[in-house]
Amino acid sequence: MSESSKDTVHAAADMYDRPLRSLRLSVTDRCNLRCRYCMPEADYVWLPREDILSFEEMATLTGYFADLGVDKVRLTGGEPLLRRDLSRLVRLLLHDRRIIEMGLTTNGILLADQAQELYDAGLHRVTVSLDTLRPERFRRLTGRDEFSRVIGGIESVGKVGFANLKLDTVAIRGFNDDELIALIEFAKHYQAEVRFIEYMDVWGANEWAMDKVLSRAMILDQLSQQYGSITPLPERGAAPAQRFLLPGGTIFGIIPSTTTPFCAQCDRSRVTADGMWYLCLYATSGTDLRNPLRTGASPEQMREMIQSSWAARRDRGAEERKVLELVGLRDSGLIGIDRLREDPHLEMHARGG
Ligand code: SAM
Ligand code: SF4
Ligand code: SF4
Repeated sequence: MSESSKDTVHAAADMYDRPLRSLRLSVTDRCNLRCRYCMPEADYVWLPREDILSFEEMATLTGYFADLGVDKVRLTGGEPLLRRDLSRLVRLLLHDRRIIEMGLTTNGILLADQAQELYDAGLHRVTVSLDTLRPERFRRLTGRDEFSRVIGGIESVGKVGFANLKLDTVAIRGFNDDELIALIEFAKHYQAEVRFIEYMDVWGANEWAMDKVLSRAMILDQLSQQYGSITPLPERGAAPAQRFLLPGGTIFGIIPSTTTPFCAQCDRSRVTADGMWYLCLYATSGTDLRNPLRTGASPEQMREMIQSSWAARRDRGAEERKVLELVGLRDSGLIGIDRLREDPHLEMHARGG
């Protein structure tokens, strides 16, 4: 248990009374895919290697967050499984008993090799991103011929004992809107739950356009034509996915971040692999936690920095994007590639989705 965890927990709340509970920890900005909606460019500016936090530094930081109320951690990236010996980080973080939910979001390519050790380390949940069941389409979307390894990764999850596998699909009009039913049936086969994510205009997604967004309404419309009436399930606090029940008992989710943002409930923040802390997916500036950590700030000083930043948080990024849309400016709100090169933290693959 971290030194800080011996102190009393003071749950932090922001300007809209949203608690600090869920932390997305990006362990690397590197990736072995080049998904067109996330990393469409040929070339990226990577975070300097010497700035990347060690596992011990990540565990220390997570301890300070836990002091202030964080109890859910998700490991992400970039592709988190590219970070060597990730199961060691899982063990380190789970030493802190206040972390009651530890998840991983991965593209699945390296999962078959690592699923067993991650399970043995105590990881609770796995989410695999899967946008298509067609190998050729996968190659066009990601620039790599890795479809069969992703499927192998998905198969390995259940075999080693994980329950509650989630499959996250970015739903894009004119790209994979003809695969919703196939994806639901595929997920059923693996006792998984598919979640359709509305295509988001995050900074790096410079191919985004509103007419490529397959909205929650369109998804529900298409699925109800196939399956009949769809029943919404009760909301689960700050969870971003709205869940639905199909007549045969299958459950699926929709994350309607673009058309129906859920900022009002948002309890999540993000730490990049080099220790920058962002209060919102759309935030253009963050707090450098690495420098104070490495130059000997005390636990009290670290907690004070985190607590005061969270207390001043007013971020509602997706809702603000929605307002831009209402005045016809959403498409012009994207950051250009030059700005992204100047600050790689703005990329989705740096802050972990
Ligand atoms: N590489 C891992 C993966 O793909 O699962 C983890 C990092 S990735 C940035 C996390 C999630 O963000 C993935 O499910 C991905 O599909 C999603 N994502 C990336 N860009 C997106 C966009 N423009 N709109 C919606 N979701 C996006
Ligand atoms: Fe695709 Fe995830 Fe890599 Fe982005 S970080 S390119 S979503 S695999
Ligand atoms: Fe939270 Fe920002 Fe996403 Fe809104 S846009 S849900 S405030 S991370």
